[in-house]
Amino acid sequence: MSDNGGVDVLLVEDDDAIASSLATGLTSAGMSVRRVSNGTDAVAAKVPDIYLLDVGLPDFDGFEVCRRIRQLHQTPIIMLTARNEEIDRVFGLEIGADDYVTKPFGLRELIARIRAVSRRLTNSETIHSAAITVGGLALDADARRATLDGVSLDLTAKEFDLLLYLASQPGIVHRRNDIMEAVWETNWYGPTKTLDAHVAAIRKKLGNAKWIEAIRSVGFRLEAPQ
Ligand code: CA
Repeated sequence: MSDNGGVDVLLVEDDDAIASSLATGLTSAGMSVRRVSNGTDAVAAKVPDIYLLDVGLPDFDGFEVCRRIRQLHQTPIIMLTARNEEIDRVFGLEIGADDYVTKPFGLRELIARIRAVSRRLTNSETIHSAAITVGGLALDADARRATLDGVSLDLTAKEFDLLLYLASQPGIVHRRNDIMEAVWETNWYGPTKTLDAHVAAIRKKLGNAKWIEAIRSVGFRLEAPQ
């Protein structure tokens, strides 16, 4: 939930007219709305309370966005689709969407769906369980527990934070300064030897250095070893 207690909505919609009218409507219903217009930005955006995800996007379609988000976390997703075929609905739910609304839809209907999905997930408490898995690695952000192939990893607090940060976007190269800012919560312009030491320690605990690849003079990338 956002600071004012409203639902924090990430609207993923490439059509400016639809996006702006939806944003206005949802805002007046007490929700806070951020908007992106393509799939890449949707996956990279700060995680909201709920995603409203258009299917027809310029880079890759909403189903693919849904699939990628689901690899990272279980935040509720409502698909906004112009396609009315039953096959899409089934497919959408199969890949992990929580609900879908077919265009054209009324604002009132959409708000009701958002509230229903938020309520359902709050009740089952899954909205707070931020579990991330990459290959055999599983991280529970709330319990601050990490396991590899089901075996508990004994990590320090900073090692856990660093691993969580890298694992939240597997395959993506993270710049050293970005990692320092995110994990050590500081603007960092000095040497980043601390970071190397932590990476070395984590690699050792994971038992395979290939988990975290160093990209020379850029940063690090986490991926399950082949
Ligand atoms: Ca569209």
